[in-house]
Amino acid sequence: MRLRFNPKTAAAGVLLAAGLAAAAVTAAMLAGPGQAGAAAPAAPVPLAPSPDGIALAAPDASAVRVPSSPQAWGGIRSGQEATLSDRVVHYDIDATLDPDKHTVTGRQKLTWRNRSQVAVKSVYLHLYMNAFAGSGSTFFTEKLQREAAFRSGVDIKEGEWGHIALNRVAQDGAAVPWTFVHPDNGPASDHTVVRFDLPAAVAAGASTTLDIDFLTKLPRVMARTGYFGSFHLVGQWFPKIGVLELPGERGATAPRWNVHEFHLNSEFYADFGSYDVRITAPKAYTVGATGERQGAPVENKDMLTHRFVQGDVHDFAWTADKRTAKPLVETWTGPGSPQVTVTVLYPPEYAASAKPALKAAKDSLSYFSNTLGPYPYKTLTVVIPPHNAEEAGGMEYPTFFTAEGYAKVEPDTLAQYALDFVTIHEFGHGYFYGLLASNEFEEPMLDEGLNEYWDARMVRERGQKIFLTTPFLRKLGFAPSIEVFDGDRLASPRNDPADAVGQNAWNRLQDIGPVYTRTATMMRDLEAAIGKEATERAFKEYYRRWKFRHPSAADLRETLAEVTGQRALVERVFEQQVYASSRIDDRIASLSSREVLPAPGTRQVGGAWVEDKQADLDKRIEQTRERWKKAHPDARAGSGPYPYRTEVLLRRYGATVPQTLLVKFADGSSKTVHWDADEKWRTFSWTTPSKAVSAELDPQRRHYLDTSKLDDSRTLEADGSATRRWSMDFAAVVQALLSLIANV
Ligand SMILES: [Zn+2]
Repeated sequence: MRLRFNPKTAAAGVLLAAGLAAAAVTAAMLAGPGQAGAAAPAAPVPLAPSPDGIALAAPDASAVRVPSSPQAWGGIRSGQEATLSDRVVHYDIDATLDPDKHTVTGRQKLTWRNRSQVAVKSVYLHLYMNAFAGSGSTFFTEKLQREAAFRSGVDIKEGEWGHIALNRVAQDGAAVPWTFVHPDNGPASDHTVVRFDLPAAVAAGASTTLDIDFLTKLPRVMARTGYFGSFHLVGQWFPKIGVLELPGERGATAPRWNVHEFHLNSEFYADFGSYDVRITAPKAYTVGATGERQGAPVENKDMLTHRFVQGDVHDFAWTADKRTAKPLVETWTGPGSPQVTVTVLYPPEYAASAKPALKAAKDSLSYFSNTLGPYPYKTLTVVIPPHNAEEAGGMEYPTFFTAEGYAKVEPDTLAQYALDFVTIHEFGHGYFYGLLASNEFEEPMLDEGLNEYWDARMVRERGQKIFLTTPFLRKLGFAPSIEVFDGDRLASPRNDPADAVGQNAWNRLQDIGPVYTRTATMMRDLEAAIGKEATERAFKEYYRRWKFRHPSAADLRETLAEVTGQRALVERVFEQQVYASSRIDDRIASLSSREVLPAPGTRQVGGAWVEDKQADLDKRIEQTRERWKKAHPDARAGSGPYPYRTEVLLRRYGATVPQTLLVKFADGSSKTVHWDADEKWRTFSWTTPSKAVSAELDPQRRHYLDTSKLDDSRTLEADGSATRRWSMDFAAVVQALLSLIANV
């Protein structure tokens, strides 16, 4: 998902401009929970144990420390198996859209395989759409308590709520009773997780099929899903079974159901499987969906039934609109991938966005498949939501995602950057979420964070910059730009980071933005330390090992450590930043460089004591200097007959990171030293023929997480180059630019 960024309505001063996720921390968030008003939710109810005794994942679960076993999720997929993934589920769904009532009537056959070695008597399902049923859901409770907005903060008005109702659940014809449960201790009024107590237990290794009739009422588009006018983005719309994790998978030591409530900022987690979905909609509607279309739509009076099938994915979303313009369709080919049909569905008002989105999608296919591994599916559908349905934009589903629409997309403007970046980002989720199917509830850094990082690498490789300007300002000659990783850095909390990037999606003081920006910055710093080539090898291996499985943070850490051979460094970064939130703040506290001159005092000469008096010394020094000048007419300032003693005092106000100090001297020479010790200060000194002109910590710019780069350099002459390099550190500058843009 893309956190909301819209240059048309961008709030001045918010660093979102960097095209980044960036939610700056709001005062409301820091102030803590607000007052729950009339819509106060019911109190939590304790969770009754399931009849088979299988536990649920803890409500505070977050980044995993223990690597998964090699056999996790069926082991590494070699590509020689009958299916790409070790399929656990099959969904067979007939869905009928009523575009006027904004409802989807569904008949679903869900086949689920019990991978565990115990009989399963209860299964748990997500009913995500119930997050939009009313103010008492976990989603809205968190929204109210935090006084937070979801992305751009569109609110649901009267008649715009959504829900999903179970009309019938049966196992082999026998009715299945169900109960709403609250695995995260949310309010009793939350109905986003349901437990089915099965008439017949599912034996170890066996499968069962459940018949589920449901009715989904879509909300007005507000958070990733819903309708606006005739436009429908149908995501998280069907009853979806939770993941039964086994020992050795993501830190589990016994079978456990991983089914969290739908939180304000959390996304999803599901088993791989196959989908066969028949979507019936009125003829005038253009339908797009996850997967491959099977033949021409089947006509029935004024309705058409469109069939889509896809294997080896873990979700299914679709869209229907009667305003869709003629779709753009092109193909893409790349090594190891099947030919991919790329389709862009867009409304007439955003025709200008269709071609740029198509290009960005195809460029992303090339970049991600080259740097990680082949894109294994035959389709990719890009949906540009219409005007007023922006909240449907910037969301990913397997082989299907939504981008953003702009009426005008001019080169080197913020709109062009935003459209490109959102398209790249949503495509990127096809890898970091789609293929590398991490748990988005518990470890959002593995999808949002790694994706943001890999997107920024792609942007960096293309030489693309974030242009903080509009077409109008550009005509006036105002077109400042920043590098993409500078943008991520600026949008990361660095001075007072409160949440480890490995924290789960909902238990966060500083909201979800840092998952994107701080993870990207941390990974960028790790790359600076281990090298670009080693990083790319490690990520290719991460893809090879974990595609079609569910890696944890520990699995990422192990892959990075093993492939790069730099375990200590990788483990340090994970301890400091993934499992904790360490401030990095190294500074040059002082720099001095003084001539070492003869000094007054007494000394013994031939048995007698002689005193060197200051006046005599001054005279001698002057004479020596004059002689030296005559002998060295072209000497630069800062050199002379006497040596210089240079001292640099380094201070460390945060966690220990390996540092490099570079000191430059007037004669063009330099000294480089490393400071890796776990200590709060250190003085380095040299006696050299020439005076120091500057000292710089981290000259290779390895530490973007450092609170401030301005205090990383000192000069003794009027040479501001080191400082100028980091002038973008002044967030105020960026904010000023932004407020200007927002007001034009
Ligand atoms: Zn995202």
